[in-house]
Amino acid sequence: MEKSVKKLIDTHGRVHDYLRISLLERCNLRCTYCMPAEGIVLRDKAEFMSQEELLTIASTFVEFGIKKIRLTGGEPLLKKNFADIIHELSKLPVELTLTTNGILLDKYIEDLRRAGVNKLNISLDSLQEERFNAISRRNDFQRIRSNIDLAIRENFDIKLNVVLMKDTNEDEIIDFIELSNESHIKIRFIEFMPFNGNKWDWSKKVSFAEIMAIVSSHYGEENILTEPLPPNSTSKNYRIKNFKGDFGIISSITNPFCDTCNRIRLTADGKVKNCLFSSEEEDLLGALRSGKDIKERIEKVILSKRAKHAGISSFESEEGHSNADHNRTMTAIGG
Ligand code: SAM
Ligand code: SF4
Repeated sequence: MEKSVKKLIDTHGRVHDYLRISLLERCNLRCTYCMPAEGIVLRDKAEFMSQEELLTIASTFVEFGIKKIRLTGGEPLLKKNFADIIHELSKLPVELTLTTNGILLDKYIEDLRRAGVNKLNISLDSLQEERFNAISRRNDFQRIRSNIDLAIRENFDIKLNVVLMKDTNEDEIIDFIELSNESHIKIRFIEFMPFNGNKWDWSKKVSFAEIMAIVSSHYGEENILTEPLPPNSTSKNYRIKNFKGDFGIISSITNPFCDTCNRIRLTADGKVKNCLFSSEEEDLLGALRSGKDIKERIEKVILSKRAKHAGISSFESEEGHSNADHNRTMTAIGG
């Protein structure tokens, strides 16, 4: 008989079965909207989960009915023991996946395959080398492009994450969608979100309506087909008639998907967060190290989850800047 599982259900009736684990805070890029140019302050290794601790905490989540685990960061492929971690996680009964900037993908493609990973989210904010290198403050465009081609050839199901920003890359919307003409790639345009110190400014936003107006005027409204929404989808998805892939729009701020949110986050230093925008955390690693019950803490954090955006009613201060400075940076949360 199947063992009954105590699920992570919050006070709004949402079942949480998707865990995002940040493997580390460091990154090999310095995307302007995510990381300061000088990088982050490096912390003592002992403050972060060891491989064994990470696996213990992940297994506890699986006992609570987690069905999908995404590894993120910082840049997850920078983690020294990445191959071991993914191998060990592959023994759990979950769908494993990864969000990466793609720089080191060629090095780990076999490990990912062996661990049963079929889906990858790769981030790329411009198809123009100089522009991408300016946004990411590094010179890795060619390597990332060739790794995306490699992953396509290797038949990974790829979502390409593009953070859209005014006067930065919004003129490339059609160029990105054109990638979905010949391959099954899924383009995901992401609204620029506020985090601690990322100089968020509402005027940089490219709205859902603006994106759709650009797409309609280029392809004609009759050629934009609406794709069915999978459960817990964060994006509204469309396909251009006869294109193999699709494109989607993730408007976390203007069109939030909080109603169907099934996500919970574990930071690299072992804190659990119930929302990307929440500053409230429970210290699972500290509890584990002092022999305390981590299950109780996981349940507590789920029960305190707010209905929308961690209870923040507006992200904008009167000056039009971010009200989210109480939260961690994106790299310290795990995007
Ligand atoms: N380094 C990996 C990468 O870039 O794919 C994984 C971590 S990154 C924090 C995860 C995702 O968050 C990326 O797609 C990135 O573009 C997105 N992201 C980071 N800062 C963001 C922001 N301020 N607004 C919207 N998306 C953001
Ligand atoms: Fe690094 Fe990803 Fe942040 Fe860019 S978005 S700085 S690649 S963590």
